[in-house]
This record gives sequence, structure tokens and C-alpha cells, in this order.
Amino acid sequence: MRRAGHVVRQALNVVRNAVKPGATTLDLENVAEACIRDLGARPAFKGYHGFPCVLCTSVNSEVVHGIPSPKRVLREGDIVSVDCGAIVDGFYGDAAITVPVGDRVAPEATRLLRVTEASLHAGIAAVRPGATLGDVGAAVQKVVEAEGFSVVRDFVGHGIGSHMHEEPQVPNFGVAGRGMKLRAGMVIAIEPMVNAGKPDVLVLDDGWTAVAADGSLSAHFEHTVAVTDTGSRILTE
Ligand code: MG
Ligand code: MG
Repeated sequence: MRRAGHVVRQALNVVRNAVKPGATTLDLENVAEACIRDLGARPAFKGYHGFPCVLCTSVNSEVVHGIPSPKRVLREGDIVSVDCGAIVDGFYGDAAITVPVGDRVAPEATRLLRVTEASLHAGIAAVRPGATLGDVGAAVQKVVEAEGFSVVRDFVGHGIGSHMHEEPQVPNFGVAGRGMKLRAGMVIAIEPMVNAGKPDVLVLDDGWTAVAADGSLSAHFEHTVAVTDTGSRILTE
């Protein structure tokens, strides 16, 4: 899974470098697919429940599951979340970043990205044997809500291994001390989706793209994280 995680990270790195005003979300898809295949891995998302692409690319008020398109041109000041999965020898890696487009992103958008990434790392910091999924969710939620943003409830993180989505569900909200206890050897994908406005989402007519119902900006960061004997190890760094 470490090897799959490395592939995902390298693909996200080439995508980050390709994000600029005038690029399309299909341009991002193409560099990611080339990177994954050059590394001898397989993309995890393409064909998953019929999803057509290697990446999910979600711009501005799109929360997750946006479909790359030659018609979707990135503009100065946008933010774009990029979610990527890869398979190596039957094991999965899954990670996401949200990237500012150009140099003139609004301070509020910059703050949303910083807080969402910080909430992911707060969740990871709560991972250790004996901690509960409620501890993880509560740690994420506290960081997000302290900044006046909201945690999306309709999508959650997940166990991951020889399938992309395994038990248990890993909510980005919760009550400390509640929920399943973590044990060494478990691997989970923690993936806060954070809206600048209200947490409600809608799915567009394409059947995939989830958007913030109030049209507010949304960000998404994700790591695949192993529970170790002493704490945790991020597999997608
Ligand atoms: Mg993902
Ligand atoms: Mg995931």
C-alpha cells in the first residue's frame, strides 16, 4: 500500500504543477494518467461504479467527484480539488489535494484550503491503537468549526486495502470516545470535505458532481493512513 501511495503522491505532484490559468481539468487528467501508467500502476477510479476518469476534479463550489472535461477551463483565482487513486499489486492508495489557480486567490479561499488541510492533519494526529473513529472525526470537526467553516456530512472517509472502499466508514465529524476502536494494521482514508458556507450538498445531473447547495467554496484533502503499533504512518506522502 506504501507503493500505491507513492504512485498517488507522484501523480498529484505532476497535477499540481499543471494547474494554471487556461489549463482544462482534462489536461490534469491526462498528466495524471500518464504518470500512473509510467510508474507501472493502474488508476483506481476509472471504471469504478462507471466513473469515466482517473481523477476527480472539483472546481470552486464543487465538493467532490467532478468529472475532468476539455470544456472546464481553470481561471485565475479558482480553487480545484484533485482526488486520485492507484492500484499496485492489488492494493490501493487514495489521496486528494486542493490547489489554488494562479497567484490571485481570495484570502477567504486561501484560508479555506489552509484550514481543511490542517483539519486532515488533526485527524491523522488522533490515529493510534485504542483511539476511536469518533476521536478522529471530532479532531477534524473541531479545527473546521473553530474557523467558522462546515464539515460535509454526506460523504465520509473509509477503510482501504485490497479494495478502494472498505469498512469502516470514517466520518469527518463525531464525538470523542465513540465508534470503532482502531487497531494496529488497519488502514483508513481520512478525507475532510469542508464548505465555506453550509454543509449541505447536491449532486448534479451528470450523476457524479457534488456541489455545495449554497454555492459556497469547498475544499478537500485526503491521505491514506496506516495504524501502527505506536501511532500512524501516512502512506500517501
Ligand atoms: Mg480519494
Ligand atoms: Mg477516499
